Amino acid sequence: MKEYEALFDKAIQRWGVSAQLLMVLEEMSELQKEILKNINRGKDNLDAIIDETADVEIMLAQLKHIYQIQKQVEERIPVKLAKVRARLED
Ligand SMILES: [Mg+2]
Repeated sequence: MKEYEALFDKAIQRWGVSAQLLMVLEEMSELQKEILKNINRGKDNLDAIIDETADVEIMLAQLKHIYQIQKQVEERIPVKLAKVRARLED
């Protein structure tokens, strides 16, 4: 989401770092709620899941921008997935 870095800076200037970090949690909680509705109540809420997944991805991009950890996260992902692969091949 490199093309949105300037937008993230504007959001952080307007609302502040803490508010944006709390928004990460809020969006994750909204996604959790939709997943729970889907599993527990068999709700047909795929559109809501798509919406909340997009919100979470946007806020995770802002989180990485705030801490400037984009590169580290990107490097950590293949390490984590290699562990999953190893577990699956056990
Ligand atoms: Mg949301």
